[in-house]
Amino acid sequence: MNKRLQSVNKFIVAFFLAFLFFECTAPSVFFEDALCIENISTIDPVVGLKEHQTLIIKDGKILRIASTSDLKLSKKNTIQDGAGKYLMPGLWDAHIHFGYIEALAPSMFDLFIAYGITSVRDTGGRLEFVKYWKDLALANPTDAPRVMIAGPLLDGMPNVYDGSDAEHPPLSVGLPTVYDVSKQVSMLDSAGVDFLKAYEMLTPEQFAVITKYANENKLKVSGHVPLSMDVISASNGGLNSMEHLRNLELSCATNSKELLAQRLQLLNDGRKDPGGKLRSSIHQAQRQTAIENYDEQKANEILNVFAKNQTWQIPTLTLYTVFITKPFMQDQWQKSFTYLPDSISQVWNASIEKVMNSEVPTFSRQYSKWMSAMVGKINRAGIGIMAGTDTPIGYLTPGLSLHEELELLVSSGLTPLEAIETATLNPARYFNLENEVGSIKETMWADLLILDANPLESIGNTKRINAVIKQGKMYDRAKLDQVLGRLAQK
Ligand SMILES: [Zn+2]
Repeated sequence: MNKRLQSVNKFIVAFFLAFLFFECTAPSVFFEDALCIENISTIDPVVGLKEHQTLIIKDGKILRIASTSDLKLSKKNTIQDGAGKYLMPGLWDAHIHFGYIEALAPSMFDLFIAYGITSVRDTGGRLEFVKYWKDLALANPTDAPRVMIAGPLLDGMPNVYDGSDAEHPPLSVGLPTVYDVSKQVSMLDSAGVDFLKAYEMLTPEQFAVITKYANENKLKVSGHVPLSMDVISASNGGLNSMEHLRNLELSCATNSKELLAQRLQLLNDGRKDPGGKLRSSIHQAQRQTAIENYDEQKANEILNVFAKNQTWQIPTLTLYTVFITKPFMQDQWQKSFTYLPDSISQVWNASIEKVMNSEVPTFSRQYSKWMSAMVGKINRAGIGIMAGTDTPIGYLTPGLSLHEELELLVSSGLTPLEAIETATLNPARYFNLENEVGSIKETMWADLLILDANPLESIGNTKRINAVIKQGKMYDRAKLDQVLGRLAQK
């Protein structure tokens, strides 16, 4: 061996020894009052899966994330072994109603947390009622989901959710004139709502008052496309998020102009009818015809407008398939009913008994297929989707039903990671909260889920919840079962 090679060899050995010495003596780190999770696989909606990660949670936030091999933890830390587990951001349900069944609201925080929902968007209810739940959540951030509210649905006349019966609780305000709309909107803004929700009986002039105010005051407008308008005008006018793909089919039809003219006539003829009745009769008269006259080219033009305007879509597929696939027959769903107040589970069970063996109308199947195909197209067109359920409408248990929605989004063509994004990062983006929640990054709130199985392999694994972390507070499985046990005992 020549001399030069020998000295190179010596250098390598010396370097290696120095490296070993450094490794053995590298100081291990102690994080006071922190929770350390080691060796876990993280699933971030942006970067996807990363294995062997260490996460330090302190003061409710993610203080540090590093590769487990890069961060040597002192034995003095509170360390949890994450081997074989998957950590993802806490889920959002972007379409819920605390006020649909007011007697259920006191159980909803616990149900959401127990099923891994750490943020919710309430899309309409009496202002004092939803504000009460928002304020309570703000005062108890580790025991409640983050709550974003719209206040009441802003409706025209006749008002749909006027409180006239159990199916139409008082979720909306009926506003006769543009002046009333203007007054209501500025009152809601001063009351501190997070966004506005426009509804189906508004006139185009009333709708324009809402979007103008929202634009000037940096508020988002979510809603149903008013029956008096077409989808393109609503999106161009400033509707930022469209719920349930509502009334989209009407604008996608070859004869959309005729359908709109007919609708204006129906609205005028029915102006003395109760709002709920008038709205359903219009849907009944037009929806099937619209779907049968579906025009692919028109649909593409509309989707281009949505993409350009960034009109978010909340398809609420669960709501439309619940009477077809009847998920409430499954054991897990049935069990979830035992967590509801008795007065509610009795009514739900009795109603389900009635629909259990009933024939599903052919058009319901056709409509839900159309919805699912449309969601696939919307996703391929790059339009933002948010996962939402409309719980507790349709016997959808708060929390559990969001997991059903994720499965339906995947069966409509989203990848499991894209579905996760619709329930984590997307709603955060909608509210400009993407630096606070919705992904796994240092300095963000520790609103997280730990799963026993990989949701990227099967989205149904989001239901295999090992632990929920809300703003740093850890609810392990035993604690989550305690929360549910308390609800079951009542
Ligand atoms: Zn709703």
